[in-house]
Amino acid sequence: MVKCYICGEDEDSLLRVKHRKLGTIKLCFECWEVESSNKNLLSSWGGCDCCK
Ligand SMILES: [Zn+2]
Repeated sequence: MVKCYICGEDEDSLLRVKHRKLGTIKLCFECWEVESSNKNLLSSWGGCDCCK
């Protein structure tokens, strides 16, 4: 089971994101919303690595 990098919550569908400070991590949707609103994410969720 993968855990959210920030809150440690077990989730089946974590979002893989590129964090400005932490690099590539996985977040649950709640933490993604927080980090996204804080402008800490470098790319939008759901994209593939080849489409930067
Ligand atoms: Zn979380």
